[in-house]
Amino acid sequence: MLIEKYDLEVFTPPCEPGAERYAAKARLIADISEVLPYLNATLRGAIYHPGAQALTWKKGGHNIAFHAYEIATSNVEDRDGAEKELKGLIELVNRTWERRAEITPDTTTRQRPTPMAIYKLLPNTNCKGCGESTCYSFALKLAAAQKKLADCPPLTEPQYAEKLAALEEVVIEAPAIA
Ligand code: SF4
Repeated sequence: MLIEKYDLEVFTPPCEPGAERYAAKARLIADISEVLPYLNATLRGAIYHPGAQALTWKKGGHNIAFHAYEIATSNVEDRDGAEKELKGLIELVNRTWERRAEITPDTTTRQRPTPMAIYKLLPNTNCKGCGESTCYSFALKLAAAQKKLADCPPLTEPQYAEKLAALEEVVIEAPAIA
């Protein structure tokens, strides 16, 4: 096991007093730098920053960062959720480390698609079927991994098959941490 001991702290970020969003941080004793290219290879949407020995990832609107001696999550709705997510991230690191012989490490740095690039590939009918008032609002949420392609019903229609295929290439849907 790579991470055996850590100090966990859950707090409201000082830059957001009263915002009722929570952050959690685990300070590690072990250096997890070596696992970052394996996480980069397996976490869709992760962005690896080799110079800083860091990997950032978005999951359901939460901002997650892995550093050599620290794992952090922020923008979580409640205190328990922040703690639970952080514990899930620690398990994820340990599982990935144990499976590293099966994974080809990836040291490249990917670019996230911009909302405008996503928007151009949507049906652009503003039909509201996704629960958003416009396709651009949906594109913003898709870029932030707060929505999925499946939330736009028209995309399954035959006339949008090419757009859907192109979106599937660029949109990164972060998987749940299980
Ligand atoms: S369901 Fe799709 S086409 Fe309709 S508004 Fe949402 S993103 Fe646009």
